[in-house]
Amino acid sequence: MGKLTDRIAIITGAASGIGQTCAELFAAEGAKVVVADLQEDTGKQVAASVGGTFQRVDVTDASSVEEMVQATVAAHGRIDILMNNAGIDGEQAPTAVSTLENWERVMAINMDGVYFGMKSVLPVMIEQKGGVILNTGSTVGLNAMGYLPAYTASKAGVIHLTKAVAIENAMHHIRANVICPSVVDTPLLQHFMKNAADPESARAGFASLNPLPGMVTRDAVAKAALFLVSDDSAFITAVALPIDGGYTAR
Ligand code: NAD
Repeated sequence: MGKLTDRIAIITGAASGIGQTCAELFAAEGAKVVVADLQEDTGKQVAASVGGTFQRVDVTDASSVEEMVQATVAAHGRIDILMNNAGIDGEQAPTAVSTLENWERVMAINMDGVYFGMKSVLPVMIEQKGGVILNTGSTVGLNAMGYLPAYTASKAGVIHLTKAVAIENAMHHIRANVICPSVVDTPLLQHFMKNAADPESARAGFASLNPLPGMVTRDAVAKAALFLVSDDSAFITAVALPIDGGYTAR
């Protein structure tokens, strides 16, 4: 018996990186996973590999997010888990010379997308008298990072928004938490390091920030996510959990 047997789980941004690894682990634990992403080809491949279904979604578009939720209810009758995970890092620049275009794009995906996801799924979870929301934050939402103003602000916003939703909906047996990984090797990191002269030493530099040796792995993030969406964390809500080898304790 898996930890998520027969649970219906939507994961946004599941065509790649952390979301993909969570889709694989949740499915291995018995969940029926809806792989929701903008990327259709890779999203369909991930969905097929985990025995789930693919749903195209643009999390910046409230109607697209609502469609994702309603299509899942129509297919499965309920939604037990929503993981709002889609996100981008955006461009690196000091705030003084950063662009409004970058601010709006990062906020639209990382912040509006999480809000739209929770706004659409909450009526379903309230009606069914329970559910679990897990949002992907970041250690930069706990400890600010320079040169990424929109990303840092969006991740801090996700943490507080999630806590507010957790408080509001606890009476409906709905839990809402955030995972806050430090740097993880994914396509997002490759984009972040696109101007690095020596990506390997940049990786080693990131790893050296964590008191525990090495970088956080996708597997470690997915296992923490599994804990927060399963009954193992039945009385845990409104938590922003660092998965950072101790980085934010410094
Ligand atoms: P990734 O680039 O591998 O995956 C992100 C996914 O989001 C992609 O599949 C992409 O298609 C999807 N996506 C982007 N815009 C979308 C949109 N508008 N609608 C639907 N899907 C969209 O990156 P990742 O590192 O796996 O990032 C996943 C989450 O983890 C993000 O929220 C990110 O901020 C967070 N995070 C990443 C790291 C890291 O170091 N990689 C650290 C902390 C937090």
